Amino acid sequence: MPELDPKTLIIIAAITLIITSGAILISSIINRHVAGAKQWALGYMLIATGVILQTTQQYIHPIFSIVLMNQLITAGCYLAWMGARIFQRKSPLPLRYFIIVQLILLLMFTLIGLEGSGFTNRVVLMSAVIALLSALTARELITNYNKKNIATTITGITFALLAIVFIARGISIEIFPERGNMLTAGKAPVITYFITLIFNILITFGFIIMLTERLENRLQQLADTDFLTGLDSRRAIVNSAERLISRGQYENSNTALLMMDLDKFKQVNDTYGHLAGDAVLCHFAKTMRQCLRPNDLIGRMGGEEFVAILANSSFSDTTAAAERLRAAFESEPTQFNDQLIDTTVSIGISATEDGADNFDQLFKEADHALYHAKRTGRNRIASHSDTAKIKTEESIS
Ligand code: GH3
Ligand code: MG
Ligand code: MG
Repeated sequence: MPELDPKTLIIIAAITLIITSGAILISSIINRHVAGAKQWALGYMLIATGVILQTTQQYIHPIFSIVLMNQLITAGCYLAWMGARIFQRKSPLPLRYFIIVQLILLLMFTLIGLEGSGFTNRVVLMSAVIALLSALTARELITNYNKKNIATTITGITFALLAIVFIARGISIEIFPERGNMLTAGKAPVITYFITLIFNILITFGFIIMLTERLENRLQQLADTDFLTGLDSRRAIVNSAERLISRGQYENSNTALLMMDLDKFKQVNDTYGHLAGDAVLCHFAKTMRQCLRPNDLIGRMGGEEFVAILANSSFSDTTAAAERLRAAFESEPTQFNDQLIDTTVSIGISATEDGADNFDQLFKEADHALYHAKRTGRNRIASHSDTAKIKTEESIS
């Protein structure tokens, strides 16, 4: 390995940090709605400023090139930690903690002094502080691993490794104490310095991918949620339905589909207004959540049409659930401002035990049953197995 000249290395570090913190700044501006992004951008700019000050050692007063540099770097790491907390929807710690940490560090730097063995002691102190802050950041990012936050977890692991590198840096300088400052120090701190530089680049990529990952999850969530009622959207239902049906077939259990359409809903809009109509839709969504099981898939297909997919539900359980829902909605009118709006629902039921083996077929059968419920007077449930029988009888007679 070629010798690394410390001075060149610090300059490379400063240039790299300017570029990486610039990249974080730009992506935090583009993704400004992602919580925590601003704090990272600011944190990394402070760290970059600190390292730029470090390049001025020997040229400007050590109060700036050493003490201020260290304060800026720790402040930047602290902000990155707060950014990680905010990103994970936790509140940041109160500002006074930040000020206390900074004052304690300032006091310790003053006690350590700038001369003699000061360099070794400062490196040990800074390594310990940065290792601690990196470990805290790692802890925030690694929690709740799932396949939707892989980039966040990997960035967390990178921070954990960075903490280990800083512990190694602190220990190495204790074992091989060096005189003077970074520029005259020996190999060990230079190597660890170089490694932290690489980690900085990895973390920058990590942050940028994390922001994209968060945005991607948010878009997915928006597309899968019905804006008005908060139920699953048509897209989400269609995507999950096939999976539930296949699982039911595999487990040899019945999967049922309820297709619901509010009765004379156009009249509600015409009589009470569109906002009242919206309130009725939300009220029906709430009634569905209350009457069906938590793991039933429920969604709005569009307009005043809703769907529910009941996994592992026998014919009698399904009709009982549908009847419970119909009765609950009938008995509890929607309250809108100071008006009570009476509405009812018709429900069509289909089930895989009647032969359908895919979502389109189940949907079509439930839709036919629903049509039958409407035709025979509304505010009732009808199942495909019954309506199919009726149809056959009608065609025979
Ligand atoms: P039926 O008993 O036969 O189902 O009659 P209906 O009046 O419920 O059926 P129709 O399909 O004629 O009317 C549906 C109405 O739903 C028409 C449309 O204006 C209204 N609608 C669709 N989406 C929304 C919405 O998001 N909010 C409100 N308030 N109304 C909506
Ligand atoms: Mg309709
Ligand atoms: Mg209707």
